[in-house]
Amino acid sequence: MTDTAFQTTAAPSSLKVSDEVAIEIVNMNKWYGNFHVLRDINLTVNRGERIVIAGPSGSGKSTMIRCINRLEEHQSGKIIVDGTELTSDLKNIDKIRSEVGMCFQHFNLFPHLTILENCTLAPIWVRKVPRKEAIDTAMHFLEKVKIPDQANKYPGQLSGGQQQRVAIARSLCMKPRIMLFDEPTSALDPEMIKEVLDTMIQLAEEGMTMLCVTHEMGFARQVANRVIFMDQGQIVEQNEPEEFFNNPRSERTKLFLSQIL
Ligand code: ADP
Ligand code: MG
Repeated sequence: MTDTAFQTTAAPSSLKVSDEVAIEIVNMNKWYGNFHVLRDINLTVNRGERIVIAGPSGSGKSTMIRCINRLEEHQSGKIIVDGTELTSDLKNIDKIRSEVGMCFQHFNLFPHLTILENCTLAPIWVRKVPRKEAIDTAMHFLEKVKIPDQANKYPGQLSGGQQQRVAIARSLCMKPRIMLFDEPTSALDPEMIKEVLDTMIQLAEEGMTMLCVTHEMGFARQVANRVIFMDQGQIVEQNEPEEFFNNPRSERTKLFLSQIL
């Protein structure tokens, strides 16, 4: 839990949030077997929002964001992404997955493919993008995450921070409108956290709608427009960062903050 790894001058208020709804979750519930993991989740995310999701381990943060691109299935309530409701209809699932990118704690790069191949695989085979165009797009995003010179290496030859930046670039190659991050810096050595957060800030500044599960409270303070606190499968509290950190309402939030700050 670090507040120091990351310092920036980015001003969240300078970033635009539109009135358009990107994600709407209504009375959503999920069970793993008998275990009621998500309870009556209600959340509206507008386009351009940068939301940080915080909460103790096991509170359902990963499950919630995994439900948004159907890596997990919810059992009741609604999840609507870009106007399309997530149902068991595969067409809807494909459409939503094509609009939502995701980065995980463990970068999940294909170890036997080069960085460039990692970035062009899905565009070529899933999106049917011509190879030349896929390569140009991949190089564009590898430049954006500042590692175009690593394009022909294999993931194992890169540092953790570089691999995570490749994972972000790989997601961006699918041209998502929404990015989900699940503890993208938790597996990184401290000196590599900043380079990944800098990439995420850059995305925020370009207007990407982002939901980030992270313990980087410095990042939350400076980039998020809203912090959501989850505990025991519920959204307990949400607020703009300043209020969230300085004036937490619930006892559970106070306890959590006292443990991590
Ligand atoms: P967080 O990301 O906040 O740490 P998770 O969403 O990973 O929380 O997990 C929420 C709860 O659901 C935890 O109690 C966890 O043990 C449980 N859980 C997560 N995945 C599964 C699964 N596939 N099957 C059963 N229980 C799970
Ligand atoms: Mg998790």
